[in-house]
Amino acid sequence: MRLLLHACCGPCLIEPLDKLREAHAVTVAYANPNIHPLDEYVRRRDTLLAYAAWQEVPVVELAYDPAEWVRATGHAAQLKAERCRRCFGLRLGIVAAYAAGAGFEAFATTLTVSPYQDFDALQEAAEVVAARYGIPYLRTDFREFYPEAVRRSRELGMYRQNYCGCLLSQVDAERERAQRKAAKKQAAVSRAGP
Ligand code: SF4
Repeated sequence: MRLLLHACCGPCLIEPLDKLREAHAVTVAYANPNIHPLDEYVRRRDTLLAYAAWQEVPVVELAYDPAEWVRATGHAAQLKAERCRRCFGLRLGIVAAYAAGAGFEAFATTLTVSPYQDFDALQEAAEVVAARYGIPYLRTDFREFYPEAVRRSRELGMYRQNYCGCLLSQVDAERERAQRKAAKKQAAVSRAGP
């Protein structure tokens, strides 16, 4: 069937694309208004476009409106779980609406390859927008292929981001890295003794 596959980035596209196009005519949709800042959005998009061109798969880039993302998610006013649930709903809603209007038979997302996403919230958000726009959601679970996606994307020298996408996830990731670095330093000092 004609499938519109939402993709968050190039590395996450690799494995789902291979699996899905065995049975479907896949078009990729880059719909990620969550990504901050613009430079990062462009870098992830261009990495994805280069890989898709090499794979000869068509890509549509849908609206990038970070202000809409802030309105839809409540940004810092929401706890992370709720913010992510709304973020999935917004991005997949953009994809589902486009898929319905452009004559696709279903939509899916590469987000199910990441073990770092809330899998149940993601599936739930996808089903909600599928019902809203009257287009089937193709449920997938590619998490077992994540290590292979990491291996292949490294081998290809693809850009691999180190935070999920939004400003808050960037701040959290930077804080966690600083904490890990400080803990390592402290452990080295303890090992060295007085
Ligand atoms: S952490 Fe990721 S999924 Fe959650 S709101 Fe931010 S960009 Fe969206």
